[in-house]
Amino acid sequence: MKVSTAKYKIMVSANTPRKILDEISSFSPIGLTTDLGKYLGVPLLHSRVNKETYREMCDKVQAKLSGWKRDQLSLAGKAMLIQASSSAVPIYTMMTTKIPNSVCAHIDKIQRSFLWGDSEVKKKVHLVNWRQVCLPKTMGGLGLKDMNQVNLSLLAKLGWRLIRENYSLWAKVLQGKYFHDKQFLTTDVKPYNSFTWKSIMKGCEVLKQGIKWRLGNGEDIEFWNDIWLDNFILRELAINLVPVEHLQWKVSEYIFDGKWKLNILRGLLPDHILASLEAIDLQVCCSWKDKVIWKLSSDGKFSTSSARSLIRGTPPSVDLSIFKKIWRIQTLPRIKFFVWLAYLNKLLTNDLRWKRKMVDLPSCSLCSSLVEDVLHAVRDCSHVSQIWQKMVPSFMQSSFFSANLNDWFILNLNYGVLFRDTIPWPTVFFLLGLEILEVEE
Ligand SMILES: [Zn+2]
Repeated sequence: MKVSTAKYKIMVSANTPRKILDEISSFSPIGLTTDLGKYLGVPLLHSRVNKETYREMCDKVQAKLSGWKRDQLSLAGKAMLIQASSSAVPIYTMMTTKIPNSVCAHIDKIQRSFLWGDSEVKKKVHLVNWRQVCLPKTMGGLGLKDMNQVNLSLLAKLGWRLIRENYSLWAKVLQGKYFHDKQFLTTDVKPYNSFTWKSIMKGCEVLKQGIKWRLGNGEDIEFWNDIWLDNFILRELAINLVPVEHLQWKVSEYIFDGKWKLNILRGLLPDHILASLEAIDLQVCCSWKDKVIWKLSSDGKFSTSSARSLIRGTPPSVDLSIFKKIWRIQTLPRIKFFVWLAYLNKLLTNDLRWKRKMVDLPSCSLCSSLVEDVLHAVRDCSHVSQIWQKMVPSFMQSSFFSANLNDWFILNLNYGVLFRDTIPWPTVFFLLGLEILEVEE
């Protein structure tokens, strides 16, 4: 292979002695440098990182969005643009670098302002909080991404590759430098470690929470510290103090001749754990190597989306099936977004405007009702209730008009009857949503 020396540089530390620099120059035609410059607006190597380091990147995110006439875009259109353009900008950097939380928050803010239509002089009402907006659609959000979660999940992915691709050159280089006598997962971060390594170790913290070992010959798994038997860390279940010299023992060190060394383990672990150990077919296991698996996916492989859900924490214990139904209906995206907002009780009604001190009265401007809340706007206001009365099958009318907001959506989205024997009721319900949406707008 012919190497174009002009396109390459050898990176040297600023502290490298002159003698070594001369030595390298004597055998290599490639020039030396202490600074690799920028890639996609971000310095490739940085000793000290702050908001300024990423200013150009934030400007790019902003520029991607400011080209659009947001006043002419629906909420659906804006969410799509955020996903398709701006949120892709920081991804490359985030794969290997922990961007400061303040920078992640700044990018979130740019996207949030675009979504709800803020201008430099006027902030608009953010109808749904960003935390919820960043949940997957099936969990009640819009599927936009919290940048800090994206960043950590990408770094966790790099850690995952470091374990799985430990035969590759890049992994061997990192191993040689940072954890040559240890496993990656049990490595500690040192204050003098490089910024990149510290970033990878932040991803490692996420990784540790989502992985477990599948037992093979037991030569790589630490018996007491790793998760390999169900979801236990055996050290936490010990009934007596585990001798210090045992703490780093591998699983294989407790196996002899295809059997557990029960004489040692019996005094350290409770009977039900010993029974679980005995249930393992050691003869079969010994024929393959230990393997790290990702416990949040059915195939044991890492995914950034499951890592993000791990970072988000336990989902709220509410019925989420309704959201699946909302997004699955075949209709215009902006109707779905309208229904999503209405179901969350977040339409910008006069009642909400009044609560936010934007108007003097919560009353409806189309009829004489004293309060225009969501249910009034979408069902009870005289002009919409007339439409519903004509369309809703007669035997459904009483429950239709008496249900509260939550039950009303559940009723309409689950209703299995065909309207005029042809169209499923949920589709009709959504189409009428469009009529209402147009009146509202
Ligand atoms: Zn009204």
